[in-house]
Amino acid sequence: MFFFFVGGLEQQVRQVLKSDAARCIACSSMADLVKYEKVLKAFFVPVWRWPGKDQLLHCNNCNLFFPPQLSPGSPPGRTADPLDFLRCRHCKRAVEPEFSFCPFCGSSLN
Ligand SMILES: [Zn+2]
Ligand SMILES: [Zn+2]
Repeated sequence: MFFFFVGGLEQQVRQVLKSDAARCIACSSMADLVKYEKVLKAFFVPVWRWPGKDQLLHCNNCNLFFPPQLSPGSPPGRTADPLDFLRCRHCKRAVEPEFSFCPFCGSSLN
């Protein structure tokens, strides 16, 4: 899977909306509510970026993005379909279902 070492899809923080909004589901440190963007990279150079459609929580400690509805400490807000996200079987991170490969570890989601 050499391709995934030189390119791939990453999520990056676009704008922090609220600091320390909830707890990280992975490491329990505080996570920020952010707007994110997806960045397609090839050979470590961003070639395309587009904004994500939802707000996500981002943990600065372990650099994990996850939807607010996965956080036990998140304030009640809009109810989203939990099926919007699925989890990578390999690294257990939340990824979007339209992805064929995990953007974090590159393993197949099918
Ligand atoms: Zn974390
Ligand atoms: Zn993964």
